[in-house]
Amino acid sequence: MNKQEVIQSEHNYVLQTYVRPDVVFERGEGLYLYDTDGRAYLDFNAGIAVSALGHADPDWSAAVAAQAAKLTHVSNLYHTEPQAQLAQTLVQNSFADRVYFCNSGAEANEAALKFARKYAWNKQGQPHAKNPKSKIIAFSHSFHGRTMGALAITAKEKYREPFEPLMSGVVFAEFNNLASVEVVMDETVCAVIVEPVQGEGGIYPATADFLRGLRTLCDQYDAVLIFDEVQCGLGRTGYLWAHEMAGVTPDIMTLAKPLAGGLPIGAALLTQKVANALQPGDHGSTFGGGPLVCTAANVVVGKVSQPAFLAHVRAMSEHLHHKLAELLPADQVTAVRGAGLMMGVELNRPVAEITKACVEKGVLIINAGENVVRLIPPLVVTAEAIDHAVATLAEAMLAV
Ligand code: PLP
Repeated sequence: MNKQEVIQSEHNYVLQTYVRPDVVFERGEGLYLYDTDGRAYLDFNAGIAVSALGHADPDWSAAVAAQAAKLTHVSNLYHTEPQAQLAQTLVQNSFADRVYFCNSGAEANEAALKFARKYAWNKQGQPHAKNPKSKIIAFSHSFHGRTMGALAITAKEKYREPFEPLMSGVVFAEFNNLASVEVVMDETVCAVIVEPVQGEGGIYPATADFLRGLRTLCDQYDAVLIFDEVQCGLGRTGYLWAHEMAGVTPDIMTLAKPLAGGLPIGAALLTQKVANALQPGDHGSTFGGGPLVCTAANVVVGKVSQPAFLAHVRAMSEHLHHKLAELLPADQVTAVRGAGLMMGVELNRPVAEITKACVEKGVLIINAGENVVRLIPPLVVTAEAIDHAVATLAEAMLAV
């Protein structure tokens, strides 16, 4: 198929849930994607915070190719070494005692919700017709995924309304406002779920006090504290886990996007206290944690967890901050927020035309909400690439 045929086929046959620019990508290398005409695009979006190592990292590619030739799938009915290795590495590098593997961020959050409900259900003593401790607290600006449970804890009404009734028992409190949580917190709450740095909702970092306050409230009411680090976790903030910045740990943490460097994976990391509530048969996945994705993830986690790698992310974050202050037209910028290489630049106007102009200029940049430009490059980004991306963004802001 030529470029126009690919675009036409997509229009004719793919469910139209995304709006795409007229670009067809053929390959990727490092920080760049190449289209079918051979034109290079600087990828400052990393496939929505996924391609942490950039594209076609040689170690990642070699490990995946070797594993694909050896063993791809056996289901979770059997042991494989890559899954055992990945679980061990994640546990040894986090607060967690156990890992559950699935295939996406939404699925990881579904798992977390089920684990919290089961923990509470066990606590009540059975049998119960109805779990009296089933309420879940989520937050304004949150985004946790598109499945029925994950959607129920996602703030934007536009996403939720057409699909109601969703999972019941959810109440929303105001992000970064502990008093608003205290109002709805009681013995009937089984879980509080929060993104330590909110992504899709507009790049809002939680304050350390807020996360610590949530920990205290959850301890007080024996509710499960869930940190959704699907977007902000695994090195994105310059720390391996975003919650390290607040010095507080959750009972469950969900991961996905960058974990397998571009292959689909999700994971829920949990403490033994919560794990004790789960038994064989309570939850499962045919594909979750297969040997191919876990081999890929072992390469990613191995690299990202190195202190030098995380120091690079922090150094690049500082450079990005400087460049944003130096190059962007200040009269259009109302706020710069974020942590590490997860930055949001809020403008005094919608950003859709600006990000579109960036793509036309060969730099892939996306939004987070109507007025926020989201900067989430591969974590291996260079100072030179940052300079180019920010200069292009500045040009686009002045031109459209
Ligand atoms: N949680 C957060 C914080 C996210 O940013 C996303 C996706 O953007 C999800 C969950 C859902 O992940 P997925 O698209 O892999 O289902």
